[in-house]
Formats: sequence, structure tokens, C-alpha cells
Amino acid sequence: MSETLKIAVQKSGRLYEGSMKLLKECGIEVSNGNNQLRVKAANFPVEIFFLRDDDIPEYVQDAVADIGFVGENVVREKNKQVDPLEKLGFGKCRLSLAIPKNGTLKSVADLDGKKIATSYPVILRDYLREKNINASIHEISGSVEIAPRIGLADAICDLVSSGSTLFTNELMELEVLLQSESVLISNKKLTAEKKIILESLLFRIRSVKKARNNKYVLLNAPNDKLEKICSLLPGMRSPTILPLAESGWSSVHSVISEGDFWDIIEQLKANGAQGILIIPIEKMIL
Ligand code: ATP
Ligand code: ZN
Repeated sequence: MSETLKIAVQKSGRLYEGSMKLLKECGIEVSNGNNQLRVKAANFPVEIFFLRDDDIPEYVQDAVADIGFVGENVVREKNKQVDPLEKLGFGKCRLSLAIPKNGTLKSVADLDGKKIATSYPVILRDYLREKNINASIHEISGSVEIAPRIGLADAICDLVSSGSTLFTNELMELEVLLQSESVLISNKKLTAEKKIILESLLFRIRSVKKARNNKYVLLNAPNDKLEKICSLLPGMRSPTILPLAESGWSSVHSVISEGDFWDIIEQLKANGAQGILIIPIEKMIL
């Protein structure tokens, strides 16, 4: 009997959409299984398990699932025996210490002898030990941000993305303990057959990630500017140049990365490029 790779994803919450979108872009079709515990893909040998994110590292360690999509914050906190194999590019956030905006605490050193509320006691304990700060940790599972206002703690250690929750609760970020995004974690003892499925999935994930980070660019340029324009556009190998019907002009095609995007576009314009079109890339196989 041929095997299927069991993938654990968050049942509902901040990672659900990103996980399902990634699987879809990898060509893996699952009927919307939000209310089901597990669902098999129609066209790829995987089965999706919908779980609470906190449980995913343990389920992957214990081979209830073979791999999982989960935040690095949870992987660090749970400290299970799993292999983190690939960053997935969604669910970005940071775990930070925060203090009341107008309080007496001003620095990390001021936390000595104080009480900190968090859902991340393991990461926080390691950090405090490293900094030689003797604070007491009050573990709570949700709504950590209200702890200082209700007198439960002097400071908090919680996940932040935009910072708006801190702002609404009159808190100020003091120090970042961990930068996090979703990662693919794997059980350490996959069968050879499951490893083959995982390799094929990783290949697809990497192609999707590369495509997301790159754009296809088309532009028109006068032939005397081609050399300079091509030097700005290295592309995958080198740019493609096609002559336009109008003599003395060419169409240049290439790929540029998201990070360099605005910088390169401005330089292209400054060097005589016209009619610049930017097109999203669906998949990118190198
Ligand atoms: P579950 O019911 O599955 O336990 P949860 O309430 O613990 O859900 P969510 O709030 O959905 O979890 O967050 C899941 C993950 O999303 C976090 O562990 C983290 O990796 C990521 N994340 C990204 N941005 C944020 C943020 N601003 N606040 C909290 N988590 C974030
Ligand atoms: Zn959770």
C-alpha cells in the first residue's frame, strides 16, 4: 500500500489561511476541511490534520503527524524533538517584552524583582537567565496584554506584529526576544517513502516562495541604452531582448526580486526605459 504524508496545520486562527493558501499554490487540493479533523488531498499523497497550533510540535515528534506548519515561537517554546526544515514566509511576528508606557519601569534591568505575564514561560525564562534578571513569571494562556492594567503583572512578554494591541493597552515594546514566522517541521524518523513525498512537497514550496519573492518585468528601451538597462536587470540568466517593430527600440524581459523592486524601477526609468510592465510570477523553477 502506498503511504501518505500526514501534515498538521492550525485548525483555525492566524496560520490557517496562510497554510491552506500555500498548499493550494503547491497544487494540493483539499476540500475545505475547516470543520473536519482530517482530510485527504485529491491529487497528492498527503492528508491534512487540523489541530491547535500549540499541539503541533508534540504531534509531529510523536509521529501522529509526519510534518507540520507552525510558528517558530511555538517550536522554541515547546522544545520537542522535531526538525525545522523550511521557513514558510507567513505568520510573521515577534515575541517581545513590553512595559506600561507611563510607568516607572524604563529598561530591562528594571524588571529585576518584578512580575511578568506571558504565554511563553520557557523562552522568557531562558532570556531572563541569560540577562541575570530575577523576575517572577506568571503564565497565562490568553489576553496577556491586559495583565498590567488589572494589576496581575508589572510587564508582559507577548507576540507582536503591528504593535496596535500594545498601543491600545498603553504598553510600550521594550525588547524583542525572538523574530518568528511559520516553519515546516518534520518528524525525525520518516520512512523512505514519506521522505520522497516530503522532498516533492519541499520542491513545490520552494518554487512558490521564489515566485512570491520575484516579479516578471517587461519594458521598452532605445537600443543605445540597452547595455546600461541590462546591467540593472540580471534576471535568472540574462535578460531576453526582442526587437520592436519600430526601429531603434527593443523589448527587454527579465525577473527582479521584490526587495530590489522600487530601487531598480527608478533606475530603469532614469536610464530611458519606457512602458514598464510588472507581472506576478506563479511558480519559479530554477
Ligand atoms: P490555537 O487555538 O490554534 O491555539 P492561538 O490562539 O494560539 O490558536 P493564533 O492567535 O491564531 O493562535 O496565533 C497562531 C500563531 O500565529 C502564533 O503562534 C504566531 O506564530 C502567529 N502570529 C503572527 N502574528 C501574530 C500576532 N500578532 N499575535 C499572535 N500570533 C501571531
Ligand atoms: Zn495556540
